[in-house]
Amino acid sequence: MRQRAARDQQRLDSGAVTSPKDLESLQREITSLAKRQGDLEDVVLEVMERRESAQERVTELSDRVSAVQAKADDATARRDAATKELDEQAATVTKEREVVAGSVPADLMKLYDRLRAQQGGVGAARLYQRRCEGCRLELNITEVNDVKAASPDTVLRCENCQRILVRTSESGL
Ligand SMILES: [Zn+2]
Repeated sequence: MRQRAARDQQRLDSGAVTSPKDLESLQREITSLAKRQGDLEDVVLEVMERRESAQERVTELSDRVSAVQAKADDATARRDAATKELDEQAATVTKEREVVAGSVPADLMKLYDRLRAQQGGVGAARLYQRRCEGCRLELNITEVNDVKAASPDTVLRCENCQRILVRTSESGL
C-alpha cells in the first residue's frame, strides 16, 4: 500500500498527468491510501498492545504456578519427613512393647488384650489420686479399701470400666 501511494505521488510530482480529472482522481486515491494506512497502523498498534498484555498475564500466571508448586513441594517434603519419623517411632514402640509383653504372664496378657479390644484400645489404666484414668471415675471408699487390702500381686480391676487398674505411688492410697 505504501509502494502504491509512493508510485501515485511520483506520477503526480512528475507532471506526466495533466488532465484535471486524472489529477483529482490520483489525489483522491493518495488520500484514501493514506487513511487506510493510518487505520491499519492503529490495528497493528492495538494487536501489539494486546499481545503485550497477554504476555504479561502469561508471566504473572507462570510465576503463580511456580509459587504454588514450590509450596506443594515443601508440604510434600515435610509430610514425608513426618511420616518417616512416625514410622521410626512406631517401630521403636513396637519393639519396646514386645519386650514388656514378654515379661507379663500369659493369662494376664490375654486378659489385657481382651479388655483392650473391648475398651477402645486401652486395656489398663493408672489409678491416680483414687481415680481410674481409663473412665475418669473416682473410686468409692469401699473400693479404695479393697485396693488398699489387696496384695501387690493381685490384678485389680476398675468396677466401672473393668480395665486393669495399675497402682503407683500417686494412687492416693
Ligand atoms: Zn475405670
